[in-house]
Amino acid sequence: MRDIRKRFDARFCIEIEALQVHEGEVLTLLGPSGCGKTTTLRMVAGLETPDAGCIYVAGEEVYGDDILIPAERRKVGLVFQDYALFPHLTVAQNIQFGLHRHEGDGKARTRDLLALTRLESLQDHYPHELSGGEQQRTALARSLAPNPHILLLDEPFSSLDATLRKDLRTEVKRILRETEVTTILVTHDQEEALSMSDRLAVMMDGTVRQVGTPRELYWSPRDKAVARFIGDVNFLPGMARGQEVECVLGVLPIQQETRGAVQIMLRPESIAVSLGAEGPNAGRVEDIEYYGHDQILNIRLDTGESVLARRDALQPFIPGQQVSVDTLGVFPVYAS
Ligand code: ATP
Repeated sequence: MRDIRKRFDARFCIEIEALQVHEGEVLTLLGPSGCGKTTTLRMVAGLETPDAGCIYVAGEEVYGDDILIPAERRKVGLVFQDYALFPHLTVAQNIQFGLHRHEGDGKARTRDLLALTRLESLQDHYPHELSGGEQQRTALARSLAPNPHILLLDEPFSSLDATLRKDLRTEVKRILRETEVTTILVTHDQEEALSMSDRLAVMMDGTVRQVGTPRELYWSPRDKAVARFIGDVNFLPGMARGQEVECVLGVLPIQQETRGAVQIMLRPESIAVSLGAEGPNAGRVEDIEYYGHDQILNIRLDTGESVLARRDALQPFIPGQQVSVDTLGVFPVYAS
């Protein structure tokens, strides 16, 4: 997409200077509700028309000055939140439906897709006889059937419960890797975005704020809003002196050469906690959120500031306990 603009009313406008999905990758559009993710996806699919700009699919201009290729000729596969399966068709027939204009042997292709999505034993079942995850895999197989240039997934897991959601994420990731299909996924779920994507594009207020790998976005967010949206954060005031910042946790190395008053960003994973007050920064555990796989400690430092630290679940912390904290990493800073 280049120089895309789409305005619905005076209140909301999408403006995307440039956004590219590389062949074979999974790019996720992540952002808060109403930031324009679905509309962006619909413009790629041809279901929504921009006011200006260009869109290319697999090198072909599908929208631009005097060009408007309709949705059905864009070779784009779409999977919606609600699956949109045909209730009167079986699993196999739903998949075959996606092949109605496909050249070659439709039966062999359907067999391959049933195997890929592990739905062979359910091929004669109707949608109402399937679980949510099985319905979603059928919808995915139907969209993949005609070998689309690009697959668009709009919140594909949002109607499933937490366990099924996680299993299906792993399964869909495997299917996307095996088919090497270029994919755009839309979600407002950070964990889903970080775990499923080769790259993420964080959208806010109709614009793309940052594009990068999950690691880049998590550890080096461009601004405070992106940092907050991607996960838990600590922002501490400090004074930058080139490659380091002096703050309440000591003198810490920073990612960009800066001088003057700043806010340094530390993820809770960068804060090490030891029992007792002998370490560098003494404090007390104020509160614990226990998640099973890990826990978030809210620590009140003796200097008065609070910091969040994520520690493994086996460490037996209790509220009120005396601790000391240390840091690990090189941190981004933002103008304060
Ligand atoms: P969500 O995560 O809640 O689905 P989103 O990021 O996908 O949100 P969009 O559905 O793209 O956001 O909507 C972006 C904005 O455009 C919203 O303010 C929405 O109300 C508005 N909008 C979307 N479609 C239309 C339309 N057809 N007419 C008018 N306004 C619209």
